[in-house]
Amino acid sequence: DRPMAGKGRHFLNIPGPSPVPERVLRAMNRQIIDHRGPEFQTLGREVLEGCRTVFKTRQPVVIYPSSGTGAWESAIVNTLSPGDKVLMVETGHFATLWRQMAARWRLDVDFVPGDWRHGVDPAVIEARLVDDKAHAIKAVAVVHNETSTGVTSRVAEIRKAIDAANHPALLLVDTISSLGSVDYAHDEWGVDVTVSCSQKGLMLPPGLGFTAISEKALKASKSNGFMRSYWDWEEMLKPNAQGFFPYTPATNLLFGLKEAIDILLEEGLDQVFARHKRLAAATRAAVEAWGLEVLCKNPAEYSPVLTAVLMPPSHDADAFRKVALEKYDISLGTGLAKLAGKVFRIGHLGECNELMLMGALSGVEMGLAAAGVPHRRGGVAAALAALEQPEAANAPRK
Ligand code: PLP
Repeated sequence: DRPMAGKGRHFLNIPGPSPVPERVLRAMNRQIIDHRGPEFQTLGREVLEGCRTVFKTRQPVVIYPSSGTGAWESAIVNTLSPGDKVLMVETGHFATLWRQMAARWRLDVDFVPGDWRHGVDPAVIEARLVDDKAHAIKAVAVVHNETSTGVTSRVAEIRKAIDAANHPALLLVDTISSLGSVDYAHDEWGVDVTVSCSQKGLMLPPGLGFTAISEKALKASKSNGFMRSYWDWEEMLKPNAQGFFPYTPATNLLFGLKEAIDILLEEGLDQVFARHKRLAAATRAAVEAWGLEVLCKNPAEYSPVLTAVLMPPSHDADAFRKVALEKYDISLGTGLAKLAGKVFRIGHLGECNELMLMGALSGVEMGLAAAGVPHRRGGVAAALAALEQPEAANAPRK
């Protein structure tokens, strides 16, 4: 039931996994090497150093053969203790899942409710921490880019809020769908654990999880109360210092990681971030011209990675997505949890340029028509105009 499948290129416009560049595919298409030998040691050193550049840190980054969920668990079990109080914010589905994991680890989560249309409010964080005179809260854990909603929280401001409250809580941040697409600075923003993974802005297949670790987090890991073995930072950091891993690493994904980091640094991180913002602004221009609504309510929190679009009432987003896939061979992101059927998500991250975006937006516009979703024509034209005049597209809308 996908007559267009295989006729030309599939458009993978979900907000991750994102398309893998040909260069990365070729870099991974290699014979396996001895992970205890000198060739691997060079690769290990290169990727561990390259990760520091991308996370903007001089501190250690640990690479696991895992999905992002594993790296979430690593952040928890290396820094906290059973019963510890943790402050989290309901920005959307992924914040809710991280909270669920924290609860399973018997952490005492204060989950600030949210409407899934806004990011973390730094003022709320500050107020909660100011109230916590006894310093019972051991960590603030937030999602930088909420992939379920297309809302990017302001991590630098959250850091300032923690400092303004003069509170010693650790700051744990999920950058699973932002790293390599949205500006992020682990050291400068005083983040204690940054969690990420391979399959979004890093343009790799799924399979690698990361934690960047501050000195304070490392110190906490020396005396915290959770049991762990596989996720233990200490076990990793010892061999990592020589470019090696304590067990068999995902060697070919690491070949890909080296290539992906080279691609990001050749373009320049600032240019990569600017490109994502430009593509996101053009996407929002299209959504507005279609007469549809962007889920994110706060322009200061628009995601450069994806745009979640609200369906007109009584139209099912998944029925539309099915028509777009069958007729035009484009995969769009589904609405997650309470947003199921109500939104679809357009991913514009990783290896995505102007013409790829225009192809995707054409697929959405034709799909809306084919599925009988009420909308105005002209979204594609509005996106073109936005790309030609990026300053205008970034200006506040009336
Ligand atoms: N956090 C965010 C923000 C995500 O977008 C995702 C996955 O999309 C996850 C966590 C979970 O990561 P994974 O599916 O790699 O375990």
